[in-house]
Amino acid sequence: MTNSSNHNDNSANRRGFLHQSVLGTAVAGMTIASNSHVTAQTLADAGEPEITQTVDVLVVGGGTAGHVAAIQAGRAGAKTLIVERNSQLGGTTTTGGVAFPGLFDAWGKQVIAGIGWELVKESVELDGGTLPNFAKVPQRHWQNQVYTNQFLYAILAEQKCAEAGVEIAYYEFPQTVTETDDGWQVDCVGFGTRRRVQCKQIIDCTGGAEVVGMVGLPRLREEERQPGSYLFMLGKEHEPGRNQINRLYVHGADSTNSRTATEANLTGRKAILERVRQKKQRLMHMQPETGFRETYRIEGETVITVNDYTSGRVFDDAISYAFYPVDLHTKSGVRPKPLKRGTVPTIALSALIPKGSRNIIVAGRCVSSDRLANSGLRVQASCMGMGQAAGVAASLAAKAGSTPLEVPLPEIHAMLREHGQIIPGKA
Ligand SMILES: Cc1cc2nc3c(=O)[nH]c(=O)nc-3n(C[C@H](O)[C@H](O)[C@H](O)COP(=O)(O)OP(=O)(O)OC[C@H]3O[C@@H](n4cnc5c(N)ncnc54)[C@H](O)[C@@H]3O)c2cc1C
Repeated sequence: MTNSSNHNDNSANRRGFLHQSVLGTAVAGMTIASNSHVTAQTLADAGEPEITQTVDVLVVGGGTAGHVAAIQAGRAGAKTLIVERNSQLGGTTTTGGVAFPGLFDAWGKQVIAGIGWELVKESVELDGGTLPNFAKVPQRHWQNQVYTNQFLYAILAEQKCAEAGVEIAYYEFPQTVTETDDGWQVDCVGFGTRRRVQCKQIIDCTGGAEVVGMVGLPRLREEERQPGSYLFMLGKEHEPGRNQINRLYVHGADSTNSRTATEANLTGRKAILERVRQKKQRLMHMQPETGFRETYRIEGETVITVNDYTSGRVFDDAISYAFYPVDLHTKSGVRPKPLKRGTVPTIALSALIPKGSRNIIVAGRCVSSDRLANSGLRVQASCMGMGQAAGVAASLAAKAGSTPLEVPLPEIHAMLREHGQIIPGKA
């Protein structure tokens, strides 16, 4: 019997059971819940502790920007691998629980689309949720963020990777990264796995530009960083894709390494336990880890300043729009500073390229920018836009045997348009 027919048979049984249960004639719920089956594919190399492979594009970090970058590279025909240290795609959107991506629109029209929007829209539709009306300018910016079911989103992202031919390696991370004549050799570790990857291009989507740091390229980090937040729900159920989750600021939260991230998680969860005791309410939902707002940013070929951001500078090499207030969280909270009416900032391709680098590009909150510009640029729709642009630039560079910055801009723009993205124009 195939997996799918097995699953269907069991779904039918399950419906029967549930029906009986409602009538009060069925057995305990535990039996029902465990009554469906799927079978994971048997991997040819499952017993091998060491594997070696060659790809065109290696994406490190499958978070908000990373899975979009990988899907784009795969769709562009590049042999693509994502290495993600966690257990699912989506990063802060899913594992962090910040499942209200924004902002895809500005001043009454959509300004960011492409693969990120395709995923968000499809997951909302599949979930029977509601999409904002972008033709309407909201009174408060967050009203046009899209409530998304984090669980569905993560699974859909995996499906789109599979359709694009992207291979996923969970529970792994790079241990050493060495430059070669035509790209990189990246040695990754996971439990029970050592993976040697030869690749032409790396897209670093780790949030804090970890690969950029490993290869010794310059990064920027503030003395004091924005707090992270731990998302949870007390007293009432969390309805994914419908309501916001409670947020607890974790000051000092820092995803720089496993020790600082452990400390943030311990601190956040301890405080949640105290609240449960104080409020005598049930803990109904808790994300598996802290959401981190700020660690390292790259120092890129271009650094986007807050003046560039708030004036809506259209960079000569703009590859995507961005839209959000300047949104710096501090010890006392946040006071978003909205952009002037009509202003829509842009992101330069050269702000994704670490200064002096070859064959490596970043996407996500580590974009080269000053701190205030970054507080607006770091939001999810913008990260997705950067991810898609990085996916295009890396796959075209891999094909041409050049670096992402050497790929002619019109080729990048043409491929982005072909894959549904909106390109900022000077007009
Ligand atoms: C609490 C909070 C509230 C926010 N509110 C909003 C909001 O309302 N709207 C909005 O649009 N944005 C919001 N943001 C901002 C936005 O969610 C993030 O800036 C954005 O998701 C970051 O995307 P990213 O791809 O750069 O990083 P992430 O999504 O964090 O992805 C990084 C990925 O890389 C993986 N990784 C890291 N290091 C390695 C490694 N060495 N090897 C392998 N994998 C690695 C991680 O596991 C993760 O999956 C918020 C952020 C936070 C934390």
